[in-house]
Amino acid sequence: MSEHTKTDGLPEQYAPPTDKVAMGKIACNACPVLCQISDGRTGACDRYANQGGTLIRVDPVVFLRRDLSAHPGSSEPGLVTFDANQKWSEELIQSNEVFVTGLGSSTTYPDYKPAPFIVSSQVAGVDMVTVVTEGIFSYCSLKVKIDTDRFLGAEQANVRFKGEVVGHVSTAEYGSQMLSLGGVHHLTGGSKKEGRVTMEMMQSLGNKKPVEFTIDGGSQLVIQAGRAPVVNGIEEKRMRVGCGSAAIGIFAKQFYGVADEVVVVDDHITGVLTEHQAGRCLDMRPSGIKMNGRKSTPGRYFQVANPGTGWGGTDIADPLSIIEGWDSDKAWPGLRLLMTSTTGEHASWYVLDEALSPKEYKMPPEVSLVVARIGENCEPSMSSVLFIGGAGGSLRAGVTENPVLLTRAIKDAWVNVTCGGAPAYVWPGGGITVMVDVMRMPDNSFGTVPTPAIVAPIEFSMTMENYRALGGHMVHVRTLEEALSHGAGHDDGAPLQFQWQAPQAANVWPLGSPPMLG
Ligand code: SF4
Repeated sequence: MSEHTKTDGLPEQYAPPTDKVAMGKIACNACPVLCQISDGRTGACDRYANQGGTLIRVDPVVFLRRDLSAHPGSSEPGLVTFDANQKWSEELIQSNEVFVTGLGSSTTYPDYKPAPFIVSSQVAGVDMVTVVTEGIFSYCSLKVKIDTDRFLGAEQANVRFKGEVVGHVSTAEYGSQMLSLGGVHHLTGGSKKEGRVTMEMMQSLGNKKPVEFTIDGGSQLVIQAGRAPVVNGIEEKRMRVGCGSAAIGIFAKQFYGVADEVVVVDDHITGVLTEHQAGRCLDMRPSGIKMNGRKSTPGRYFQVANPGTGWGGTDIADPLSIIEGWDSDKAWPGLRLLMTSTTGEHASWYVLDEALSPKEYKMPPEVSLVVARIGENCEPSMSSVLFIGGAGGSLRAGVTENPVLLTRAIKDAWVNVTCGGAPAYVWPGGGITVMVDVMRMPDNSFGTVPTPAIVAPIEFSMTMENYRALGGHMVHVRTLEEALSHGAGHDDGAPLQFQWQAPQAANVWPLGSPPMLG
């Protein structure tokens, strides 16, 4: 359904800027591609269309309603075409029950235009303004936290999607592995294919869809925001309770009396109970166990094995392989040894024979109980996807004529920044670099334009007084009712479709958070 013009040096989906708009076509200048769109067709990104000679934004604008049941004629979230004759209750319009999000709102490109919705409201008697737009983010990336101990790939290893490098393995965190995906260098710094594939990956992952990755020298992964990761075809179930040392400390009292030695196998820190301070505090008899790896501090060992997808994120299948031997002056026949992983998914029970060699036996019920307790304390393994975007550039001109004032006001917390109504963390330092959990945003919040770049909603809420003080586009401020009747796009009269959605319960209502209210 989309229509584009092919030009030398540009991919087919690009339509070039031209001085003239061809007969019967309409120009879209919502991004630098500048499509010319025939009646009944959409542009290259499928976000804008020519409907009977009027340029429309294809998707509805998403409005959040704090109390959907108060909406006249509808108690359910859903799609509504605005009827200009419909009277919205004064209470609804004047209250802070409704929040206009950037989803479907259209954009400010070529940047000097005021944002498509600059909406006034009242909160607790204070006049407020929310500046709403769809940001076109060339500088943006996804930070992905994957709750697993399994080896995904070495730090800095390339992460691939559809064969293209789209990111890299970042640092390991406590019980999780981090990936850094997308970013301006993959979007625009490589081949056209790399940019297109990166954009597709970011849109899908941001929109909570599953995405399959391979990591050079590492694992194959399926990641979906809010879902358990799938590593090499196996869905991860548990996030470890802590490192091996922490597990020893947490459960030391429960191990005491039912085992003479406990080893918690962990790729990071393997814990050994009788050597560990926790065992010493319980006056446990040293077992004489000798571990492979590098001793960090008593009862805590690094590098007992290589990273892998076996016990505790190591590459071992046989836990005894990390025991170098036993000190015959300390160990004794009949010594009871528990070896477990940090999640309790792997656990084995041994007793030393006369030659001080561990022999495996069925685990006694009282020991199984403690292992089960380790498992019970693990949280469900999850994939978390955070979007980071740089809103410190030209997008600010849609808010104010003096962009640096917006940056300063955000840093001083006079402006609340949200993405689709979800709270955004604003990074310290220069610019407006926002970070938001995609799970807290409405579904399908992310779009693309083929420059290539990611489109994402962003809203700036503040008091009217502060908006005026930072050089806001005051003549473009509309009440919610006016905004509904005029639609997006600077009073161009285009028909407006909007969609009511309930805000996520976990999100602070974007119009109600001090110190924005002063
Ligand atoms: S790619 Fe989309 S936003 Fe850009 S000019 Fe074409 S239709 Fe408009």
